[in-house]
Amino acid sequence: MAYSSLHKNQITPFQAGLLAWNKKENKRQMPWKGEKEPYKIWLSEVILQQTRVEQGLAYYERFIKKYPTIHDLALANDEAVFKLWEGLGYYSRCRNLLATARFISFEKAGVFPKSYKDILSLKGVGPYTAAAIASFAYQLPHAVLDGNVIRVIARYFGIRLAADSTEGKKFFQASAEILLDRDAPHIYNQAIMDFGATVCKPLSPNCLGCPLQKGCAAFQQQKVNELPLKKKKVAITKRWFYYFILYSGNKIFIQQRQGKDIWHHLHEFYLFESKQSITWTKKKATTWLEKECAIKKPVIKFISAERKQQLTHQLIHGVFIEAHIDEIPQSLPADCWHSAKKIDKLAFPRFITSFLAEKKLTLRNT
Ligand code: SF4
Repeated sequence: MAYSSLHKNQITPFQAGLLAWNKKENKRQMPWKGEKEPYKIWLSEVILQQTRVEQGLAYYERFIKKYPTIHDLALANDEAVFKLWEGLGYYSRCRNLLATARFISFEKAGVFPKSYKDILSLKGVGPYTAAAIASFAYQLPHAVLDGNVIRVIARYFGIRLAADSTEGKKFFQASAEILLDRDAPHIYNQAIMDFGATVCKPLSPNCLGCPLQKGCAAFQQQKVNELPLKKKKVAITKRWFYYFILYSGNKIFIQQRQGKDIWHHLHEFYLFESKQSITWTKKKATTWLEKECAIKKPVIKFISAERKQQLTHQLIHGVFIEAHIDEIPQSLPADCWHSAKKIDKLAFPRFITSFLAEKKLTLRNT
């Protein structure tokens, strides 16, 4: 189906209804709401990319407390920032956060850019984040477009265009710009995001109590649960991570992940990645360590059940195997053996921290 623009007779009731709802009924509270300081808006938006608000809230509070200004963040050491980010996932956001803080602090004297174009040119800032900062901090007329906004527009205007198609992306961005209240873009942008998050929700939208119900095409045509449409299903790659927690005396083997892959820059135990599932026994793990790592007489203390973590494009399966060894083999880098004190300051992927927390196997007590 081809769409050239939104139905004109729906535009004014939509805008008026949304803004009236925002004024009278919108009770959504968030610490950064109404914030005008670009540093805080940027920080909250970067934390919230691919993260639920409920989860992001505590991280935002911790970051603001520890790094109240962009200079504080720019001067922080990488490990401390990654440690604070631990558990949020999508660690490229953390790397970009540091790079942008340092760029603004050291090269722009701490002054945040003021035009949409300059904000968009910052590392890790896409059109959505740039529009949010431009409108919330400077009241510039740029419409935010995220999943909430797409859903509200698709349902209210009955758009049967895949939101992830090239045509769909263009159409929804253009529609969001048409609908934007150019006199108060900061209020309008916040209103449509809040409406999508609290009323026109992905599952179980509150259609019966919705002030836009009368003009809503999806509701009138009973198509609410069909919209918005999506073109493709994301292909999921399966991976099997077998982590050996190697102890030698009071030292533990910890390495930092390198290369272009998930969890880049984070730390992990000794990893064997397999193309397929393996059933481990103590005997099998002992033989594997002797053969592959030239470890003499490892003592296997524990083998976990298989664990899983779903990432956007990958399903990680994994098992943790605890082994104690007497002699550090030459096959493993000497600088990867750390004391518990040092390890406490390193950042690990959630796949590992959740295992440790669940098993109450804090490295501090080893
Ligand atoms: S009636 Fe339902 S689908 Fe339509 S805008 Fe309101 S909550 Fe969304």
